[in-house]
Amino acid sequence: MKPTPARLKYFLVYALLGTSWVLGSFSVSVGWAHTADSSTQLLLLSLAVFVLVSGLYWFVVTQRQSQQQSQQQIDAQVSLERLKLALDSAQEALWDWSLNKQQEVFFSTTYCANLGYSQAEFGTNQQAWQSRLIPEERERIYRHVMRFIAEGDGNYDSTYRMLHKDNSPRWIRSRGRLIKNAQGQPVRFIGIAQDITKQRGAEERLKQANAVFECTHEGVLISDNTNTIVHINPAFSHITGYSADEVIGQKPSMFKSGRHTPEFYKSLWTTLEATNEWSGEIWNRRKNGEVLPQYQTIRLIRDENGFISHNVAVFSDISILKDSQSELNYLSLYDPLTGLANRPHLYERLKKALQAAIDLHKNSTLFLIDLDHFKNINESLGHSVGDQLLQKVALRITKKINKSCTLARIGGDEFVLISETATSPIEAAMMAQKVIKACKEPFVLDNNELFISASVGICLFPRAGDTVEEIMRNADSALSKAKASGRDTFAFYSSELTELALQRIRIASELRHALETEGLQVYYQPVYALDTLQLVGCEALVRWNHPERGLLTPNEFIPIAEENGLISLVDEWVLQHACQQMRQWLDAGTQLQGIAVNLSSRSLSNPALATTVASALLKANIAPQFLELEVTESTIMEDPENADQLLNELRLLGVQLAIDDFGTGYSSLARLKSLPVHKLKIDQSFVRNLPSNTDDKAIVRAIIALGTSLGLKIQAEGIETEEQLQFLQQQNCTLGQGYWFGRPVPAEAFTQLPSASATDQENPA
Ligand code: C2E
Ligand code: MG
Ligand code: MG
Repeated sequence: MKPTPARLKYFLVYALLGTSWVLGSFSVSVGWAHTADSSTQLLLLSLAVFVLVSGLYWFVVTQRQSQQQSQQQIDAQVSLERLKLALDSAQEALWDWSLNKQQEVFFSTTYCANLGYSQAEFGTNQQAWQSRLIPEERERIYRHVMRFIAEGDGNYDSTYRMLHKDNSPRWIRSRGRLIKNAQGQPVRFIGIAQDITKQRGAEERLKQANAVFECTHEGVLISDNTNTIVHINPAFSHITGYSADEVIGQKPSMFKSGRHTPEFYKSLWTTLEATNEWSGEIWNRRKNGEVLPQYQTIRLIRDENGFISHNVAVFSDISILKDSQSELNYLSLYDPLTGLANRPHLYERLKKALQAAIDLHKNSTLFLIDLDHFKNINESLGHSVGDQLLQKVALRITKKINKSCTLARIGGDEFVLISETATSPIEAAMMAQKVIKACKEPFVLDNNELFISASVGICLFPRAGDTVEEIMRNADSALSKAKASGRDTFAFYSSELTELALQRIRIASELRHALETEGLQVYYQPVYALDTLQLVGCEALVRWNHPERGLLTPNEFIPIAEENGLISLVDEWVLQHACQQMRQWLDAGTQLQGIAVNLSSRSLSNPALATTVASALLKANIAPQFLELEVTESTIMEDPENADQLLNELRLLGVQLAIDDFGTGYSSLARLKSLPVHKLKIDQSFVRNLPSNTDDKAIVRAIIALGTSLGLKIQAEGIETEEQLQFLQQQNCTLGQGYWFGRPVPAEAFTQLPSASATDQENPA
């Protein structure tokens, strides 16, 4: 044991004082004692004092030393506690490895507790530590530590995993120092260890989140509390086409598609602020302008005070989904082979068409079209050719119908057509014929010509069916009739209609032929001034010289011509012939003031009417005032705006305008006042019973009074008797026509009329 300076000091003091005392006592006892006994007594006394004093000295010194020692121990304990507290509060655990033979290691309580052990359980050697390393890493970590001890200089810092008592892995960060002796031999390895599992977990999560952020296929946009974009991920750029530089610092509103109302965004923000989250479909726009449907989840991130710090929007591009949705919608409504409506879609359309027909008090038509012997084509040429043929048939029929029609394919070779413009049997029959004709033309498939025909079942609704099921059923039985009557034809649900329609179709085609071959003829009925009874004009009335049925009056063919649009050609034909005739009469010096030509409602809806009239006048070289155009009251009322426009155009041409069959329509006074016409023609139904029928008398009087007050000429039709004439004369009706004056006759006969060339005429009757 090495003497400490304090101990040496106490020893020297003791040795000096003791020696001095012993020597002093001896000399005093020798010098002062008179006898040997007294000298011995004196020496014994001095020794007793020496023992007493040195004992006292020893007591004081040891007492002092022990006081000092316990103070040091207290200080050391305090320091130790302080260190322990510091380490604990820093969650640092201590280890201290003595690199002597025993290889003892001190593991602090925190160290052991971090791994779920008490110090006693944990152990005090390096095996205690080594055995708690994760087995797979044990060897590697141990070697690393041993290498550091062997070669290391400076600080040790290593992170590894150990097993907790409950077998869960814990991340431990261990930092320490190697302490070496004077010879440079490592004697001690001491350091602290920290359980960084939580921190490491957060880091790992952050790393994972970052990987997700970078790699996810979902677009992510982060904006701050001012809703300024601060971060986007690569998927965002990929989906929207915007790079980070283009969007960071901007507002998310730059992606707006304009498809949502301000209310939509308002409700989005309300939900977001109330629940911190919103998700739903939103339509934005890509950089290239394309609309981008997204499924978006927006989450608000709030700070510790509850204020919004960031918004995170995560979205997926659902345009493919939308596309497939619309494809699904498409497939649920359309036939994939032909692109036509399928059965459910057809039923929907039929329902609507039926309701519209009921509401408008008119008929519409449903056609059930079936290809004749289509099965043979499938069987002989294969289904692929069959499919191609069906596609071509669909295309051909589509070309023949107008856009308002619905064409559907409801089965193998069964098509259905709904037409809301085919309102009568004749129109329906003509449409069916068009379809049949279209199918009859040869189809070229794979360089082969294929011939096919179609049968059509027709059902007018609501006339022959007022439910979807009934219409389909009746069309089906009509189709069976068409098939039974040899196919390649149409049939109505009721056989009379089939007959009627066929007849009208025949008439229509004959009429077309008559128009081309001058089979029509114009008759002229004289018009007289009732006061002077002078012939002042005539009305051109069409006739048809039918090769088999003889002379046909307009009532027998005009309605058919109106149904199939031929009427415009008839009107134009009559107009031209009448104008030419007027030219001849004028050239012949007749005093006729004008010639009247009837116009159908179809002609009045033709925007080129004024041009047609002008060219007829020009061609015949007659002044416009010689021509009077008659339009029925019902025609004017059918489409008032259009009628007004065309009548004004005609008036501007300088021709005379008359309202035919006046009294049978529903024109109001106000309407009448605004019409640009010159004449009213009292319908013959009011003249027929004059003067006996008081109602008719009143009506005729009223029409005359009304017309006169509006400055219009009044002409009575159908004057057959003198009484009728007289009554009309009394009422100051200015003009008249009727069998009493003369029937409609061909031009030659009209020219023979005694008054046709004379100025002072007699009563022709
Ligand atoms: P509307 O224009 O009112 O012509 C008068 C009709 O009354 C003519 O019949 C004429 O023959 C008939 N009529 C004349 N006087 C008498 C009479 O005293 N008693 C009787 N019972 N009837 C008389 P029509 O020629 O058969 O013409 C019938 C209708 O056909 C015409 O009625 C007119 O609306 C229409 N129409 C005639 N020609 C044409 C034409 O070229 N184009 C057009 N769109 N319609 C025409
Ligand atoms: Mg007329
Ligand atoms: Mg008339």
